[in-house]
Order: sequence, then C-alpha cells, then structure tokens
Amino acid sequence: MIPVRGLEGRKVAVLGLGRSGLATARALQAGGAEPLLWDDSPEARTNAEGQGFAVTDLTRERAFEDVALLVTSPGIPHLYPAPNPVIARAMAAGVPVDNDIGLFFRSFATRDWDAFDQMPRVVCVTGSNGKSTTTALIHHILAESGRPTQMAGNIGRGVLDLDPARDGEVVVLELSSYQTDLARALTPDVAVLTNLSPDHLDRHGGMGGYFAAKRRLFAEGGPDRAVIGVDEPEGLYLAGQLSVAPEDDRVIRISAGQKLERFGWAVFARKGFLAEWRKGRQMASIDLRAMPGLPGAHNHQNACAAYAACRTLGLAPRQIEEALGSFKGLPHRSQLVGERNGVRFVNDSKATNVDSAAKALQAFPKIRWIAGGLGKDGGIAALRPHLDAVVKAYLIGHSARDFALQMGATDHEICETMDRAVVRAAEEAQPGEVVLLAPAAASFDQYPNFEKRGEDFMERVKALL
Ligand code: ADP
Repeated sequence: MIPVRGLEGRKVAVLGLGRSGLATARALQAGGAEPLLWDDSPEARTNAEGQGFAVTDLTRERAFEDVALLVTSPGIPHLYPAPNPVIARAMAAGVPVDNDIGLFFRSFATRDWDAFDQMPRVVCVTGSNGKSTTTALIHHILAESGRPTQMAGNIGRGVLDLDPARDGEVVVLELSSYQTDLARALTPDVAVLTNLSPDHLDRHGGMGGYFAAKRRLFAEGGPDRAVIGVDEPEGLYLAGQLSVAPEDDRVIRISAGQKLERFGWAVFARKGFLAEWRKGRQMASIDLRAMPGLPGAHNHQNACAAYAACRTLGLAPRQIEEALGSFKGLPHRSQLVGERNGVRFVNDSKATNVDSAAKALQAFPKIRWIAGGLGKDGGIAALRPHLDAVVKAYLIGHSARDFALQMGATDHEICETMDRAVVRAAEEAQPGEVVLLAPAAASFDQYPNFEKRGEDFMERVKALL
C-alpha cells in the first residue's frame, strides 16, 4: 500500500466505494487522514460497512464543512453530462476534487529513495484503444528483462494498492481519460498516448474535452519522454506541440503504417515489421508477424508504443524482441476460445467502441460477427467500410435493431441474446470462417461489465465444442 501523504489529521471525503474507493480509504487511514466514506448505492455502503468502515452521509447539507478534499471514483461524472450531486456540493463549498491517481503522485516518492542507486520511474499509458495491452506488454518486457516492475491503474490493482517502490523499479500505470481528467497531480517520467478516436464523449462534453483530458498527462507533469501515436490529427498536434523541432528526441512518434524517418526518434510498423529510427538512422528492425500474442495491425501499434517506452528505460532492442515473442495477450482482446470443424471462435468483448471493433473486423477474412449491446453515439455507421469481411451479423442487446438499420447490404439477424447468437452463428458458419464477438457497444444493458460478457460468450462456445 502507498500511504497518502500531506493530509495527516484532515478529513477527506471519499465518494464511490468500489475496489479503488476502499483502497483509497485504507491508504488515507494509513497516512493519518480521516476518510469520510459515501456511495450512492446502498449495496456498496453495506459492503463497505461489512469491511469495517464507517459510512458518512455526504448528500446532507454542510457535509463538506471541515473537509480538506473530495476523492472520487472514475465512474462518477464530475462535470458532464451533469456533476454527481455530492461532487456538486463539494465544488460549491470550494473543496478541491481529486482521485486516487492524484493521491498516488503526491505520495509515491519517499525519503527512502535517497538510498537507492537508481530512482524508481513511472510510465503512464493512455489512449482510446490498446491501453491495457500496451501497459501489460511494457510490464511483461520489463519483467522478462529482470527489471523490478509493478503494474496498476485501470488494469489489475488500484494505484494506492501498489507496494512501496524498490531500487530501480518501474511502475507502469494504465490511465483512462476519466482518471487523467481529474488527477490534481500527474507527473509520469514517461507518458504514452497509443491513439485517439471518439469514446466516452458524454463524459467529456465532446471530442475536444476528451482530447483535453488525455492531453493533461503530457501538459501537467512534463514527462522526460513522450511516446505519441501520430496516426490521428490530435496525436500529430500533441507531438508537434511538445517538441521544439522535428529532431527533438524527447518525443518518440509512433505509427501503425507511416514511415517516420525524419524525426529525432520514431518507432513504426509497416507490413508486419517494426522499425526504430533515430536521428535519420535505422536502429532496429523486428518481425512482428512471428509474435503469437500480438495479431493484427492494431497490436503492432501497441508493440511500437511498448517498444519505445522500454527503449527510453534503457532496454536493448534484442531484449525487447525476445519479450514481445513470449507475450500471451490479454483475455477478451482477440482471444482464441476454440475451434470446431475449421471454424474458429474469437472473443473480443473488449471491442466496446467502433474503432476497436473496426480493428477486429480487419483482422480476419471471413467473419460471423456477434455485435450489439449498449451502442454509442452514431451507432455503427462508421463501421460500414469495414463490413466486407462480414458474412453475416448476429445482433444482440439494446442496440440490435439500431445496428440492423445500419447494416446496409450485409446479411444480418436479430438474436437478442448471446445464447441465441452463438448457437445461430455456429450453426451457419462454414470451415475457414471466424465467429467473432466484437460488440462495438458497451455491455451494461445485459452484463455488469465487458469481462462478464466475454465469459458468457466463452462458456456458450465451450458448451458447443
Ligand atoms: P483499452 O485498455 O484502451 O481499452 P485494450 O488493450 O484493452 O485497450 O483493447 C481494447 C480493444 O481494442 C480490444 O478490442 C482490442 O482488440 C482493441 N485494440 C487493442 N489495441 C488497439 C489499438 N492499438 N487500436 C485499436 N484497437 C485496439
């Protein structure tokens, strides 16, 4: 645990009592603060009480008298579409609002570090897609290379649950836009932006707000090195803004397709090969087609970002290449579940938005596509150019009928449930085809989260096999 510093003897309100909220409460207590806990859900409050915490009603008037800070969970809106009433109350009382990421950055470095030979470093990964994969990949490469490393944030543990740093350790954090938007301290040594495409726009008041939230990771803390995907205008703009000239090697440009040879430092993938260029010279080339855990151009983009981050930490190309080869991939991302009569079943439940679903649809030649759930703004209109490989779609969930209206000439059937979709797709699939769950929608209409949706898919597939 990382005890929270600088709030000794102060009252700190904690809103949201999920895993990260309770970890925050413990870390506040360990640092000598007095946490006041609240969650709008009665079940969450009961659960917190079951774990020995007292609950304080933060919805009552004057709840924020004498409170030094409000710490909130990422799932709770603080601005758009409308502030949660507790957050609104804190803001009206002039109480600063922060999250566990901000507390982590103000608390992580300690006096003990003076005795270390090599200062601990923090690498933060953000972006619309590929955050978890890139974070896990950096952590894997470091671990395989023998560097002490821990991973947390939006993946695995909450940041305040991390162990105190060891000599030479690298902490790798996955940060969502909600987290970068609110953290009052954000001081990574290395910051990574994988890519940017519309997502969570309701929470950010549009694309500009979404980009602004991610940009804080680079603008607030001034990382020593910034690894930036430049395949979208926002990344290109940010890379330019952070460098004084094209040869400035504090910015490492990443691309999943463009040749970037004229910059201070760049890593790009083309036709399955990763290339590192530095000051006009090629430093390394790696064949990514041989990496079983990194299929498809989107994963090659993740490999470039992870490679670049690890290079800034002093790892050699050959060390990185070896570790890329032993990466197994993450569950619910292009995950092969099984095969029957030449038909493969692939679980990409994490494809919750149009961009990630488009990537999945480009990764296989003939697809029986299971899609739908809680669709996002604009539905799947933007997927029309990527439907060539879809033999037929099996639509589920709340958005099934909306999606059906946007399928154009592509054959489709409304199945409503996962059960029916898997049965129908398996019945109709021909050898050589892939039954792919890549919903292009959130899961919350039928499941608590995308993991449960992916597990449901896998169980139904396994029952068939
Ligand atoms: P995040 O943590 O940003 O959501 P994940 O690594 O969990 O990213 O992947 C989320 C989804 O996006 C999965 O469906 C995955 O197959 C797909 N994906 C992974 N990397 C990329 C990428 N670089 N660009 C687009 N889609 C990606």
